Amino acid sequence: MTALKEFAPKLYLTELLLDDFDVRGALILSDTHAVVWDTLSHPRDMQPVLPLLRDKRLWIVYSHADWDHVWGTAGLPPGEIFAHSEAYARFAADVPQELNAKKLEQPGAWDAVSLVPPQMVFSGQLHLDLGGLTLELHHLPGHTRDCLVGFIPQWGVLLAGDTLETPLPVVNEDSPLALWIEGLARWQGDERVKTVIPAHGETGDRQLIARNIAYLRSLIDGREYDDLPAIMSAFYHDTHAKNKIYARRA
Ligand SMILES: [Zn+2]
Repeated sequence: MTALKEFAPKLYLTELLLDDFDVRGALILSDTHAVVWDTLSHPRDMQPVLPLLRDKRLWIVYSHADWDHVWGTAGLPPGEIFAHSEAYARFAADVPQELNAKKLEQPGAWDAVSLVPPQMVFSGQLHLDLGGLTLELHHLPGHTRDCLVGFIPQWGVLLAGDTLETPLPVVNEDSPLALWIEGLARWQGDERVKTVIPAHGETGDRQLIARNIAYLRSLIDGREYDDLPAIMSAFYHDTHAKNKIYARRA
């Protein structure tokens, strides 16, 4: 069951424990709009946010098209969905494949999921005017090629999706590591960023960006990163091993 936490006035976090890891989305409220940042893994994950949507205009943002970020959309009333154009393309490729695989693995468990592709797609950046509040969406390819971050300048909040993660970020086979580091370095150097909210692991400040950059650099350099916790879950232990292999191949 999703825990809904009021992180700051008008900013709620949706936090959920999945089998192997936890995931976090957000709900941003303005006077006129409700923005759901990621719909998590299943329509039921969105239940706690429903009472807060009331009569507001609903916008949904997909930080990227991985299953734990976009499968809950059918649990929300209809709204406009924003994402990077490459996320849209994934809805005709790996997104349905992943759902079919999960359905075979766990019969019955995912029947309520219906995939809802984004309608409002962009590349580069897009600024959403929420009426007195802005949500800037910026492409930050790395973890996947369709990854976005969301920046709210009035609050100094950076919603990082899977571009940042604790204890370590998840590298995929085709992750563009140099571009990823470049994108993160831009935000690390941006003094407007006060609070950083990733989709997995700890929330924090720009230190979190610095740590993820250092980790990714160690992968590129083929050095062992020396700032990992002594004990990590099996998921992150395996991910670290895979990250090193993928970085070597890149
Ligand atoms: Zn994720």
